[in-house]
Amino acid sequence: MASSDLLSLAGQVAVVTGASAGIGRACAVELARAGADVAVNYHGSREGAEETVALIEALGRRAIPVQGDVGTEGDVARLFDEAERQFGPVDIAVSNAGRQKDAALTDMTLDDWNAVIGTNLTGGFLMAREAVRRFRAKGRRPEVSRALGKLIFDSSVHQRIPWAFHVNYAASKGGLKLLMESVAQEVASEGIRVNAVAPGAIATAINQSEREKAGGMDAMLKLIPYGRVGDPEDVGRVVAFLASDAADYITGQTLFVDGGMVLYPGFKGNG
Ligand code: NAD
Repeated sequence: MASSDLLSLAGQVAVVTGASAGIGRACAVELARAGADVAVNYHGSREGAEETVALIEALGRRAIPVQGDVGTEGDVARLFDEAERQFGPVDIAVSNAGRQKDAALTDMTLDDWNAVIGTNLTGGFLMAREAVRRFRAKGRRPEVSRALGKLIFDSSVHQRIPWAFHVNYAASKGGLKLLMESVAQEVASEGIRVNAVAPGAIATAINQSEREKAGGMDAMLKLIPYGRVGDPEDVGRVVAFLASDAADYITGQTLFVDGGMVLYPGFKGNG
């Protein structure tokens, strides 16, 4: 196989959660650009999911919107059912859906905690379990990929950097790190690769109010050695790479896509 072919996802089927906007949409579009057909999961915005579908169809690939809550077992199973019914067995699963519900520790309600853990961590578990079951049932397709299946989580720099006033979010992403690594260890011998991307500050709805408040952008840029906030496509391209055979010897790893945020920029110049 020529090296450029190794990046191709032609003939493969992907599911992406939380793909009606932001990083999830960029992942879905970049997977399609590489040749995959995509089931576009959304929670609330059917309109957003349809826009993602239109972007994928404009690339000459197939896509369908599938409503569902990643924290609900039946919805996750239905996402894979719909993808398989429309396009055939699933080769690539991207667990991207996530949310924040920020509060100081002593003001954080149990609902705030459960909502974020339920989507970010339990959603990741349900996606991993379903993806591995489906990969096993599908069997190898060496004509499209060396791996039996590819599972990619959207984590965060906050799987490594503690985050005051966001303890539910940081705990969910820290949990996701060891979920990803443990699943990777459990299924590697079957030919299933499991990895994560850890975005830094990417311009999406999740941090729009932070970026738009007075001084918010300057405060954010101080944390980013590379000097710019990321675009969703910065992350989507890395996810497409991790899904491809160009990354065939990578499993159990987190790729930080953060302009250097985890380099402790506060220590530049002796700290
Ligand atoms: P976003 O708010 O645009 O996207 C999050 C998506 O998840 C939305 O489409 C939302 O509808 C969906 N979602 C939320 N709860 C869901 C549920 N229960 N079931 C299905 N879908 C659900 O923000 P984003 O920045 O694109 O976030 C995507 C992922 O990237 C999240 O996991 C987030 O934690 C992670 N992330 C983002 C940044 C950033 O700076 N934007 C940084 C690090 C990590």
